[in-house]
Amino acid sequence: MKMLVAQNAQQKYLNCLTYSRPQLRQLQQQAYTCPACQQPVMLKVGTTMQPHFAHFAGAACHAATEGETAEHLAGKALLGQLCRRWQVTFAYEVYLPAIQQRPDLLLSIGHRRIALEFQCSPITVPRLQARTQGYHQIGYQVIWILGQRYQRQQWRQSNHAFLQYALKWGWYQWHLVVARSELRLLHHIAHSGYPQQTSFQVSTLSQLQHITPPQRPPLSVAALLNESRQLYYKLGQAAPELQQLQQACYLKGHHLAGTPLCCHQASMPPLNRRAIVLLQVRLLLFCEQLGQVTLAQLRQFCWQNARAFYCLPLVDEQFWYLQWCVQTLKNWQRQGIVTAQETEWHYQGAQWYGDYFAKQRALLK
Ligand SMILES: [Zn+2]
Repeated sequence: MKMLVAQNAQQKYLNCLTYSRPQLRQLQQQAYTCPACQQPVMLKVGTTMQPHFAHFAGAACHAATEGETAEHLAGKALLGQLCRRWQVTFAYEVYLPAIQQRPDLLLSIGHRRIALEFQCSPITVPRLQARTQGYHQIGYQVIWILGQRYQRQQWRQSNHAFLQYALKWGWYQWHLVVARSELRLLHHIAHSGYPQQTSFQVSTLSQLQHITPPQRPPLSVAALLNESRQLYYKLGQAAPELQQLQQACYLKGHHLAGTPLCCHQASMPPLNRRAIVLLQVRLLLFCEQLGQVTLAQLRQFCWQNARAFYCLPLVDEQFWYLQWCVQTLKNWQRQGIVTAQETEWHYQGAQWYGDYFAKQRALLK
């Protein structure tokens, strides 16, 4: 892996960013070691890429996480510049032996320690989870900032894994666009439409003070018809994920293809689009079954349906499952399907249709 910081023979740390290229060429005479694994590293000073240290071929370094690229090195330098501008104390690539991790930057704000990770390469969800937990274990916060690979228009599962939640920003994540020297916040991230699309707002650092939640229009009749049709077709194909739910509907005298319109939402927190409809049907049946639902019962519902949610390693799962349920119930409250008394909801009833065709007729009226 490539890195900005290494130790010389006197155990002094040397940061490539603090020297000019001619100075670094002179420093190339010395021997350097990796602060994490203590193996020798070489100082590379080319003409275009940010000068850096690199392990020799075949060296296995336990702190090596990225097949680091020019983007990653330049991004780290850029984040350092931003910290300086904000007058935040920080250090590059501090090796933390207790967890064998080396964040790209480590910020110190009073007693708080915040690791910045600029992620440019692919990472598995378990790995992301383990590294995040590593920081939490020693009482550090971590902020993941995503590189070019994650900045495509079409979102993949890997993008979702980095989602975080804050009241004022909704679902959000950070992107660093190195080519523009710009740190961006993607916020109020939501899913809409079928096939699923991800929508979000983008703010630069100077706009952060003025963030307001976006107004999202309700689903059109065409979109409602489309989603209902998809559900109907899937039922026709006896899709296994629908069978059990259809049975649960049947026991209540309903038909899944006649799902009430309240289960189709224009935009929702990031969640598999089809799962949204199905999860809402489950929640609706749950409310009907119990008549009145408490927060504790909602928690139980979340726990039972945990598999319907994405795995979001950066978020307290218990919290966000519940958040999802509460938001859905608030939507239903506006439609008169439930009423709320403090933290208890009372089921009032929803309009189920006899089958898909009855629903279609009602929609086209
Ligand atoms: Zn090493």
